Formats: sequence, C-alpha cells, structure tokens
Amino acid sequence: MRVLLSNDDGVHAAGLRALADALEGDEVWVCAPDGEQSATSHAISLHRPLRLHEEAPRWYAVDGTPTDAVYVGMNLVLKDRWPDVVISGVNHGPNLGNDVHYSGTVAAAMEAALLGVPAIAVSLAAPPPHDFTQAARLAVELARALVAVRPSRPVLLNVNVPPGRVRGWRLARLGKRTYGNEVVTKIDPRGRRYYWIGGEGGAVNQDIPGSDCNAVMEEGLASVTPLQLDATDGGAFEELAALRLPGLTREPGPC
Ligand code: MN
Repeated sequence: MRVLLSNDDGVHAAGLRALADALEGDEVWVCAPDGEQSATSHAISLHRPLRLHEEAPRWYAVDGTPTDAVYVGMNLVLKDRWPDVVISGVNHGPNLGNDVHYSGTVAAAMEAALLGVPAIAVSLAAPPPHDFTQAARLAVELARALVAVRPSRPVLLNVNVPPGRVRGWRLARLGKRTYGNEVVTKIDPRGRRYYWIGGEGGAVNQDIPGSDCNAVMEEGLASVTPLQLDATDGGAFEELAALRLPGLTREPGPC
C-alpha cells in the first residue's frame, strides 16, 4: 500500500511513529503538523504562507493545521501519485462522541475523505504512558481491508482503542460526552482578567448502548465508527416544513 500518515499531535509524536512502524513493508509517507494541533478541528490556513520541512525522506512537517498537512501532502507531496489510504493518529487521547467535531485527528482524515481517498482516524483512549502498538495494529488491519475492497464511495472511519488489554472491537455509533461548560476566570501577573475554557479536561459520557463511548470506556472494546461527510439533517426537513413559513419548502418559493 501507499499510505499517507498525518496527525494533530505533531510530526514527532510517538503515536505517529507507531503507525509508521506497524506499516513495515508498505510505502509510507508522512505529512503532519510541525507541532501540537489538537482540537483545531478542520481549520485551514488560507491567509498566511505555509512552510514545508523535510524531516527525513518521505517525512514532512508543515507549519500549519492537520487539514493543511493533508492538503499539502495530497496536492503537493503526493500529487499525481495519491495514496491508497490515509491514516491519522494514533492520537494521544480519545476522540469519542462529540470529540469528533473538535478533533484535528478526525479532521485530517476527513480532509482525505473529502478528496475521495479512504481514511482512518485512530485514537488511543488512554492516559499516559501510552502504548500505541495495538491501536496502530488495528488501524493498519482496517486500512489493508479497505484498500483490498476498494469501496465505491469514500470511507471515513473513526477508531478508538481502550487502554490496556483490548477485548475485541465493534462497529459503534457516536456517543455523547461533555466536559462541563466552565469558564475559569483568573487574573494575569499584570492585573488583567483571562479565561480558561474546557474545564479540567475530564469528560462525562452518556450511557448510550451501542455507542463508541460505551464500547471503549465501559466494555474494553475498540470502536469503529463510520462517519459521513454529508452533514445534512434529512430528518429535519419535515419539522422545518411544519414551521409553515410561506415558500420555505423543498420547492423554491417566494419569501
Ligand atoms: Mn491530539
């Protein structure tokens, strides 16, 4: 396989190295942010120059976001020889439920899927010290299967792996998790107020059977969640029609 790796923890992250190690025998390319880009979601740098640094043969660092890295990896580094699959991770921490909307790891994979290449985001839902071996192995196994089958439409998989011994894996839907809505107010050394959002970082998972949160946090299973790129909420069409705003229907009308 020709594989492009990226992540949001930076080009020197151990989780990225673990993926490369698990892909021995494959043609591995890396294009990843040059530093920490966690929770940058799908941001793209359209208003400043980007620099590309070749760390080693086939290993590139981009001074931008995960999306920038995949964009540059696909459209410059691997232009005219796109990879069979893109893998993003292994993230240093979980990307479960609501996390996918903030995750740079998921966004890197999503950027590849938007370009039409099968993509996998893989995260280790464990506190340090991290052992990425199993997570990397599962991601590579999935990648090989995807490349062998060549699905007819772009596939985007979000994979989370629990700490310790993994009992197995399952297909799971996204769960729901929250971090509190706290805004901590403090005073800086110069007497000005500053704010810290996101609470202490601890998440509360809703108990939703079949969810990725339950699989990983309760059942000791790795979760595999297919994500879709079409964010349309088709189920809301009927409810919006019930608002009875004249002309606001599927057929164009005067407003
Ligand atoms: Mn990260």
